Order: sequence, then C-alpha cells, then structure tokens
Amino acid sequence: MSNIEQTLSIIKPDAVERNLENEIKEMFKINGFTILKEKKIQIEKSEAEKFYKVHETKPFYNDLCTYLSSGPIVVMILQKENAVKRNRELMGATNPKDADEGTIRKKYGISIDKNSVHGSDSIDNAKIEIDFFFKDWKFLI
Ligand code: UDP
Ligand code: MG
Repeated sequence: MSNIEQTLSIIKPDAVERNLENEIKEMFKINGFTILKEKKIQIEKSEAEKFYKVHETKPFYNDLCTYLSSGPIVVMILQKENAVKRNRELMGATNPKDADEGTIRKKYGISIDKNSVHGSDSIDNAKIEIDFFFKDWKFLI
C-alpha cells in the first residue's frame, strides 16, 4: 500500500550561510524526496517563537529562536513514501556528534544548536508546520 506523505524541512541559517543549500537539496533528491514547494526567507524572532512554541519551557528556547531568525533559511515541503520518518532518518540525531554516518547532520552539522536542518517529527506536526509556512497549501494526497 502506498503511503505518500509530505513533511516540512528547513535548511537552517548555519547551512545557508555556508552555501550548503544545493548540496542538502541534492541529498533529499538522491534519497527519493520530491521538493514540492520551497522558498528562501528570513523570519522574525516572534515567528520563530511561534514555530518552536512546543519548546518554550526548554532552557535553549530563547537562543534557538534568536538563531532561527538570525539569517536566511530555506523552507521546503518534501514528499515521499513515509516522508516524515524517512526525513528524520536522513537528517540524523539532533546532536551531530550522535548522528549516523551518511546523515545530513553528521555531514554538515556543527553543533547541537547549529545542526543544519529541521524536520517535522510526526504527521500531525508536519501538517501544522506546512500550514505555518505555506498557508495556501492544499494537501492533495
Ligand atoms: N536544540 C538545542 N539544544 C538542545 C536541544 C535542541 O539548541 O539541547 C535545538 C536544536 O537546534 C534542535 C532544536 O532545538 O534542532 C529543536 O529540538 P528538538 O529536540 O525538536 O530536535 P530536532 O527535532 O530538531 O531533532
Ligand atoms: Mg523537533
């Protein structure tokens, strides 16, 4: 049974700043993801605070929101079979030090805060996060 999903991916400021945008997109494509929609934007800190609201009680919340709004990011809707899980696998562990060989964070991540990519962690959150950045997006599948 086909289980095509969409998930939200973000290439974070540390990766955009190092011109890794194309290399990271290539990793998604090689791994069978279709980039359905993408845009390069810079967000306000208040928007980052909304996006990361789930982490508002964490000690790293303020720095995280400052960081995500510190420079351009690339937000993308990725599509593939089991896209949410497959993207989390391709990203690797939150801390690049713990990430498996061949993952994006192992390859490009600098540290736990500058870990190059974001990916939705569940189908429900993928819908919420896609809606956050692409309000007009209609789920076709
Ligand atoms: N983060 C951080 N310090 C921590 C844990 C997380 O700076 O101790 C940052 C990191 O950039 C991470 C983001 O907060 O990507 C969101 O954390 P989460 O646990 O959701 O990790 P992810 O889903 O991105 O792997
Ligand atoms: Mg997360």
